[in-house]
Amino acid sequence: MRRFPGVVFATAFLFLSTSFSNAVAWDEYWPGADYDPSIPTVENILGHESGEQITWHGEAIRYFEALAAAAPDRVAVFEYARTWEDRELIYVVITSPENMARIGEIKDGMQRLVDPRKTNRAAADAIIANQPAVTWLSYGVHGNEISSTDAAMMTAYHLLASRGDDTVDAILRDTVVVIDPMQNPDGRDRFIHHFEMSEGLEPSADLMSAEHNEPWPGGRTNHYLFDMNRDWFIMTQPETQGRVRVIQEWYPLAYVDAHEMGSDSTYYFSPEARPFNPHLAKDQTDSLELFGLTNAGLFDRFGIDYFTREQFDAFYPGYGASWPSYYGGIAMTFEQASARGLKVRQYDGNIMMYRDTVRNHFLTSLGTAQTVAQNRKKLLDDFYNYQVTAIEEGSRERTRSYIIPVQTDQAGADKMAGLLVQQGVEVERATAPFKACGNSYAAGSYTINLAQPRKRMIRTLLDTSVPIAEDWLAEQERRRAKKIRDQIYDVTAWSLPLMMNVRTDACGRAVSADSVPAGPELVQPGSVSGGAGKVAYLVPWGTASAVRFAANGLRQGLSIKSSDLAFTHNGTRYPSGTLILDVADNPADIAATVAQLAASTGADVVAVDNSWVTDGPNFGSNNVVRFSAPEVAILWDSPTASYSAGNTRFVIERQMDYPVTAVRVSTLARGDLSRYDVLIMPESREGYAGALGEEGVAKLKDWVSRGGVLISIGTANQWAADPNVDLLSIRREDAVVETDGDGDGKKNGGGSDAGGDEPLEPTVAGSIVSNDEEYKALILAEKGSPDSVAGVLVKANVDPDHWLGAGVASDLNVLVRGPDIYTPIRFDKGVNVAVFAQADELVASGYMWEENQKQMAYKPFAAVQPNGSGFVIAFTQDPNVRAYLDGLNVIFMNAIFRGAAHARPVR
Ligand SMILES: [Zn+2]
Repeated sequence: MRRFPGVVFATAFLFLSTSFSNAVAWDEYWPGADYDPSIPTVENILGHESGEQITWHGEAIRYFEALAAAAPDRVAVFEYARTWEDRELIYVVITSPENMARIGEIKDGMQRLVDPRKTNRAAADAIIANQPAVTWLSYGVHGNEISSTDAAMMTAYHLLASRGDDTVDAILRDTVVVIDPMQNPDGRDRFIHHFEMSEGLEPSADLMSAEHNEPWPGGRTNHYLFDMNRDWFIMTQPETQGRVRVIQEWYPLAYVDAHEMGSDSTYYFSPEARPFNPHLAKDQTDSLELFGLTNAGLFDRFGIDYFTREQFDAFYPGYGASWPSYYGGIAMTFEQASARGLKVRQYDGNIMMYRDTVRNHFLTSLGTAQTVAQNRKKLLDDFYNYQVTAIEEGSRERTRSYIIPVQTDQAGADKMAGLLVQQGVEVERATAPFKACGNSYAAGSYTINLAQPRKRMIRTLLDTSVPIAEDWLAEQERRRAKKIRDQIYDVTAWSLPLMMNVRTDACGRAVSADSVPAGPELVQPGSVSGGAGKVAYLVPWGTASAVRFAANGLRQGLSIKSSDLAFTHNGTRYPSGTLILDVADNPADIAATVAQLAASTGADVVAVDNSWVTDGPNFGSNNVVRFSAPEVAILWDSPTASYSAGNTRFVIERQMDYPVTAVRVSTLARGDLSRYDVLIMPESREGYAGALGEEGVAKLKDWVSRGGVLISIGTANQWAADPNVDLLSIRREDAVVETDGDGDGKKNGGGSDAGGDEPLEPTVAGSIVSNDEEYKALILAEKGSPDSVAGVLVKANVDPDHWLGAGVASDLNVLVRGPDIYTPIRFDKGVNVAVFAQADELVASGYMWEENQKQMAYKPFAAVQPNGSGFVIAFTQDPNVRAYLDGLNVIFMNAIFRGAAHARPVR
């Protein structure tokens, strides 16, 4: 709790004075430091010493503003974005007065070094001779990893207040230090709010105490419950978008993402663990040693434990410790064991104080800046060479260009191109038809030549797969055979064309076509062809743009119908799901409304003057349904998985423009469900059984039978498909157990120990084990889940005859994670609308255990089970993970809009 008798007044007084009388900072961070009293300490401004309290977002902003006021020649504060909850995101620039006076020139120097096509070697050498190196220190992307923001404040103070310190002088002279003190202020303040509510007479070191255990949702994530340390290349969140923009203004040579890990640990810094992403340059992975050695020296000096290399790899490119390295700098993660409060008792009885954790991040922050200062020229040379070799590789490797053709899901193609442009990739848009690698492409196709500085980023984001070192994979298989957990830290597949289901062709030659540079827009405005329609407006289905058109149209009260089947009108073929807006059923200004919606959502609309269909259903057919504006609820709070709940809500609300009511699971039992048309059950780790009970099951079954649409996502199906719940008749499978070597003696692992009424014998029959294989068979578990999969993109085929598949691509790429595999639904119970492909065609990208591949083939991804007047719709894997599986948007939104349109609620 705050203890501030009189301090508020003292702070106000001190803030007005130019010298801070009580200026000796708590100096255990750097014993013997001589600090300038004209620079305010944390205590001067906030009333607590560094590390004595967990500093709120607003307080930290106040402190950095005070530093800027005290030393305007050496500090500048910049706002780079706002969070969903309107907190400001800032970065703080600290350097010598001489460098500060030429900040524009320094940024310009990096802008020139990043492009060797404009800056030759001699020009680069001239820049490098006079160019400070930029160090970027980022803190607290996970809001409940608290120590780093306080370390950011102390780092800034130390750099500005130290006197007679050669290291600090060299850092200010030879580098620019950029501090992003809080990447996730919404999450941080959420943590502190809960923490301070739980505090008592004195801070508790007990990990059981309320202050060490956050309620749902913890402070790790941002407002929409995203892990922003996975969001870098997909930039779904405003916080990430701001960072991506400013990093390309500065091009830091070293980027640190400071985290915390579990309390029973020490400290982790680079070198990072294997596997390395093969698209990192060797200079980059080699330089990790430099930083590691400096930090190790500091930790040795203070007698602090640490570890390196065993954990936290840089294979996935969406981490803060990976993404910035695709510009040529060095990116690293640092991890401090968390106090998750003001003190904690570790497993060995050691009491770790919050200030210890702040001090450790402070030390590695200084160590990083020091390493950059000592290696200024080398790092700048490496940065320039990185661009040179990237261009050179892009002009001789097998893949020399990527082409994104004009396609059915043009909204997806436009968004992917825009995402790449926002990250600095040069993308062109053809203004005339062209040929490349034996194919003809229409005007409007996007082309990306790889002979450009971002070549390695392009390859890691667009290649179908990124290979993992064979020996490392062999080690994972060895571990798995012994049932030791694998060391794969995140997903093994993230190919943008697969995730967005956007056709993208690799070509072995550079493309030459008449073209203009593509812009950063994610949505290209749609248009209305055919003028003002006399009879109707048609919106072809199958894109996120069309879904947004429907969502906004329904919110504005428009009358919208949709054809479940494809049809032909006036010689044009319209896909199943196409929206039909009858002029007669809509307001008089429908033409203007449709034009405005087309422009804002990106949907292309066709105005028609008659209803005559030459093939397929007419507009008044029973195969055409009227959309309602469904009331959509999502289960919220414990025991839902916060990522799944938040990310799903985000997709519906912010990517598809439709509002969702978040309903706490605890409220569901006593509430009246009849007000909702659709209820979404996100994933849940603990499962829903305890929270919903038998009463909840009965209530949901009754609601579905009366016309409700229940959408069950990923692990929520463990509950819905449990025979004791039986909302779904699919069943979760055990691992297939191979009972003999040649593979044809398979049995399902389940249910083999039914003992009946026989009395149990005290002993079992003897056995002779004569080889390894027999031994392994003997110790196999009789029953158990398939092995867990880290994250693989897997193909699923879509049934075009069912309304859930209307307008959906014929095959989808699904991110499979975890061990769950379900039986297909039987004909008499429902329809398997999306089914995983056969085993040898299953994996689109990533590394999947062979047994899982075999067992997952032909199992359902999406199944619809009618029940009375409503439906239960199961997605056996989460289609909304990280809001980055755009290729699954249409089938998921079909579940909401078409599910509600096909249900026949009892009203
Ligand atoms: Zn973290």
